[in-house]
Amino acid sequence: MALMTPQEYIESLRKLKTRVYMFGEKIDNWVDHPMIRPSINCVAMTYALAQDPQYKDLMTVKSSLTGRTVNRFTHLHQSTEDLINKVKMQRLLGQKTASCFQRCVGMDAFNAVFSSTYEIDEKYGTHYHENFKNFITMVQDNDLTVDGAMTDPKGDRSKAPSQQADPDMYVHVVERRPDGIVVCGAKCHQTGSINSHWHIFMPTISMGEADKDWAVSFACPTDAEGMYMIYGRQSCDTRKLEEGASIDVGNAKFGGQEALVVLDHVFIPNEYIFLNGEYEFAGMIVERFAGYHRQSYGGCKVGVGDVVIGATALAAEYNGVEKASAVKDKLIEMTHLNETLYCCGIACSSQGFKTKAGNYQIDLLLANVCKQNVTRFPYEIVRLAEDVAGGLMVTMPSQKDFESDTVVGRNGETIGDVCNKFFAAREGVSTEDRQRVMRFLENMCLGAAAVGYRTESMHGAGSPQAQRIMIARQGNIQGKKQLAKDIAGIQ
Ligand code: SF4
Ligand code: FE
Repeated sequence: MALMTPQEYIESLRKLKTRVYMFGEKIDNWVDHPMIRPSINCVAMTYALAQDPQYKDLMTVKSSLTGRTVNRFTHLHQSTEDLINKVKMQRLLGQKTASCFQRCVGMDAFNAVFSSTYEIDEKYGTHYHENFKNFITMVQDNDLTVDGAMTDPKGDRSKAPSQQADPDMYVHVVERRPDGIVVCGAKCHQTGSINSHWHIFMPTISMGEADKDWAVSFACPTDAEGMYMIYGRQSCDTRKLEEGASIDVGNAKFGGQEALVVLDHVFIPNEYIFLNGEYEFAGMIVERFAGYHRQSYGGCKVGVGDVVIGATALAAEYNGVEKASAVKDKLIEMTHLNETLYCCGIACSSQGFKTKAGNYQIDLLLANVCKQNVTRFPYEIVRLAEDVAGGLMVTMPSQKDFESDTVVGRNGETIGDVCNKFFAAREGVSTEDRQRVMRFLENMCLGAAAVGYRTESMHGAGSPQAQRIMIARQGNIQGKKQLAKDIAGIQ
């Protein structure tokens, strides 16, 4: 099958029997639900750009397994150039959606599980790598979107999976059959889980021998029997439900999506299992997946940052302050911060290396430095955006007020007239355009989109402390001490 068009992708979701719950109820037509649809549009953009001649070279690539043309989101990276192109593609998607476009978690899971299964088989003579190659070939040939599911609920953080009072705090095997396994548990804040055709489940921490039943990785279709999702709400999300909502939503076209994914006795046939008890490899999968996803943030958040910077410059222009030197300097600072993140994304890619399995892995230290910066710089960027835009981005009356013909003034002025008079932009700019850019910034800085630009920058791909642990491990302080000793003449 060829690459899917965005329409074919959206229609393909309708064929799934995915169980989705929101506000305490089952949502049957979740594809057209106004709170969910923007996140589907976002993933659809990964299909649309692959069809666009302008972006074809970046968005598509020859499969290393079949030689056929595939979407880069399903690719196993074959070189440092592939790793760099991945980051460039993510920046492009961020620019086109100003949101988390969700499909990267699957791509990062593919590459981590591909290389790890090779090394598990090497040690144990298992056939997980063959299983995975068959799975990824099916994904590539059908141009599927796959969620990479890692984060377990974790219960008492001081205890290992096997020590938890409730064993479901980490996904685990509850039954082993000749033809497969039965699994229980859940994965929290799963990006793009509802919009995905399949899921790859992976462990979320390193494990010991007692945790064998929790050391499990597998693929399963999103509508598997026993699996369901409870939608995560976002700040100001119900604005999307308002009649005729467009301006107040800020970004009416696109958005991110997270959900709680529950596995209630789901059967996984043998051919979709990639790890089953080889506990010492759990950490390898975690470290590789996290490394790739920390690289990813040096692309996606930079693309979103480009839109935030653009909106800030527009707000300044509409307010008539774009020539003020303080405003210009703030835009320079925002650009400097954003491009620093991009430098990190490109750097960890260009210093990548070949794994035993043949695909390419990023430089772990640089990827962790990349993500550590991402936990900070977007916060400073939105701080500057709010500074330049002004308080109006959070105090302006609603779209309905601007459109209202309820009479309030002595001379028959309507609420709409009053709003349009007092919130007028500089000459030559419509009040509506000013409203739009202010609401967009509100959305990015503290509305629904702030999930993707702020809190996800903090905790997505691992919280800051997780990167600091990796930086400590990879930082080679011993080697650096020796450098100092050599030059200072210390024996
Ligand atoms: Fe992709 Fe970024 Fe969203 Fe992760 S946070 S899925 S890298 S867009
Ligand atoms: Fe993320």
